[in-house]
Amino acid sequence: MTGPGDTGADDSPPPPIPDALWQALARSAFRARFHLDAKDRAYLDDRGLPTIMEHAADFIARRLAPAKPARDGRQTPWRGHPVFVAQHATATCCRGCLEKWHGFAKGQALDSTGRAYVLTVIRTWLERERP
Ligand SMILES: [Zn+2]
Repeated sequence: MTGPGDTGADDSPPPPIPDALWQALARSAFRARFHLDAKDRAYLDDRGLPTIMEHAADFIARRLAPAKPARDGRQTPWRGHPVFVAQHATATCCRGCLEKWHGFAKGQALDSTGRAYVLTVIRTWLERERP
């Protein structure tokens, strides 16, 4: 059970995201093509980043953190929420991408540190996308 505001990061500072990750993502034509559209930006501005990150914590806890997420590889829609776009842009969309890009082995549930890392990646990407 994950309540609102439980980002898994309450007991430790967010893990640092290496610059090499952003450089590698920028070199991927597939990842680099994802950007927030006007609707995503309006939603983000309207709700505010803290609320959007609560949504992100919920998505990650339910769709990505389990050892064997339902419909893994297809659980993250292409659009419809700024966090979905951020997940494709940062390769935190499914367990296959998470293993390939971020080194989290498939088949193992993400612990609170892993979830905090993923959420920090998403939040940093969203901050970089904002004008
Ligand atoms: Zn993926």
